[in-house]
Amino acid sequence: MNVFISKPLGYCHGVVRAIELVKKIAFEHPKRQVYVLGRIVHNQDVINELDELGIITLESNHLSKEQLIENLPSDAILIFTAHGHPRQFEEIAKRKNLTIYDATCPMVLSTHHLIKRELKNNHQIIYIGKHFHPEAEAALSLNKNVFLIEEFSDLETLNITDESPYIINQTTLSYLELNLLHEKLKKVFPKARFANEICNATRLRQEGVFTLPSYLKLVYVVGDQKSSNTNSLVKVAKSYLKEAKVLRILNVKEINPTHLKGLKDVGVISSASTPLEVVQEVINFLNLQ
Ligand code: SF4
Repeated sequence: MNVFISKPLGYCHGVVRAIELVKKIAFEHPKRQVYVLGRIVHNQDVINELDELGIITLESNHLSKEQLIENLPSDAILIFTAHGHPRQFEEIAKRKNLTIYDATCPMVLSTHHLIKRELKNNHQIIYIGKHFHPEAEAALSLNKNVFLIEEFSDLETLNITDESPYIINQTTLSYLELNLLHEKLKKVFPKARFANEICNATRLRQEGVFTLPSYLKLVYVVGDQKSSNTNSLVKVAKSYLKEAKVLRILNVKEINPTHLKGLKDVGVISSASTPLEVVQEVINFLNLQ
């Protein structure tokens, strides 16, 4: 098959930094249990690898993250993920005397910095992001004057009284969707100020999609279903590659060979949290078809 690859491939620098930090801490403290609060990055293959190294990812369907921290033994090492975290998590961990490390991506911290600056000037913040995503939860925790919207209609339930609110966003959104939402918000808040905080790594991967031939009938987006930047790539691919079936897969095991029958060309896109070796396996497999 002809395999067309959207670049760049592999991890962004924020993901590299987070994974390296976790492995380094585990290596330096072989006799202590290392925990990560939630998924260090949203990729199941990465979580499996950390699991094999004895690093525990704390997740629960019935306990809150606060409760998960409360339940840790006092000699635990706790690492916060690349997405950022609410300040109160750190307060609980400090009260319990846990050893804590922070893998928050500098791009995420930069959005927090901008939000805090605007809050200091008594502005309300409209934060465009995904409900329940840890990055959005961290931003919301900064102040009650930070309001989350995922869709334009979310505005209806919010009490925005500021004539010139500051409008900022999660780093991993689809920029096509963000631009549309900005246009709508400009009509409601003509005096609003906008920051576009889609990070470079996310933007470059979305721009890469436009280098694929528009006639493709099948495109794989390699990434985890929980990854926001993977889901944004799926959206961008669907809106640009009108002829293509766009399928998200975690890794090569999820390729269904019947989808390839009769095709000569296929596209491959990968997210900022997909290991390079995982996407390379997908490409190698398709090259052999
Ligand atoms: S996708 Fe962007 S914000 Fe997220 S970890 Fe990578 S560089 Fe940081």
